[in-house]
Amino acid sequence: MMMTEDGKSSPEFLDILYSYANEEDEEIRVPQNKRPSCSRCSRPITVCLCPYLPEKPVAIETNVYILQHPLEESRNLTTVPILCECLPTDKVQIIKGKKFSLRRFPKVAELMKSPNTLLLYPDSEAEDIEAIPQAPGGQPYNLVLLDGTWGQAKGMFLHNEVFSWPKKVKLNHSTKSKFVIRTQPNDMSLSTLESTAVALAALERRPEIVDVGVKLCTECV
Ligand SMILES: [Zn+2]
Repeated sequence: MMMTEDGKSSPEFLDILYSYANEEDEEIRVPQNKRPSCSRCSRPITVCLCPYLPEKPVAIETNVYILQHPLEESRNLTTVPILCECLPTDKVQIIKGKKFSLRRFPKVAELMKSPNTLLLYPDSEAEDIEAIPQAPGGQPYNLVLLDGTWGQAKGMFLHNEVFSWPKKVKLNHSTKSKFVIRTQPNDMSLSTLESTAVALAALERRPEIVDVGVKLCTECV
């Protein structure tokens, strides 16, 4: 039997530890030696971003798919949990993997075959996202992003034939700099949150979507 700090044995204490180990109960109090993190945005409580999240999810037409490299989710800097809080739950899907074979990921293959799918990846054939015509009503685009470091994303792209199928789109220099100037002046690389905000704003002709991302990213640092 384990003892609590005040010396009493307590079955509830064991229950709390057990639930915490299973990480399913958001209400559970974390042990004092562990930095408490926010159950909504996954960041430590002291730097919780929830006050800066939009009051309501940003209504979008586009379906967003994040194909996440398995090592990316463990990085502290991943912006995907925050992105998921900003968008309607039925508009964003995260699929974890590195090798998207037809056998193991038939849905990814189907998605890549769709004429409405756009893969955000700057290969030599990629078109400027601002030149993509607006989606006709009722036929939204599927916007696919590869989430990882630049090297991980490049590896995913080069080692999966399915990514050669859809139309590739890229963010142009001036679109990116509009964002970067307002957040991180010396760095042209964008996080997944930033890239998604910029891409959605361009595809849906709604520049205000960028403002949501800028507000969050200026608080992220
Ligand atoms: Zn939070």
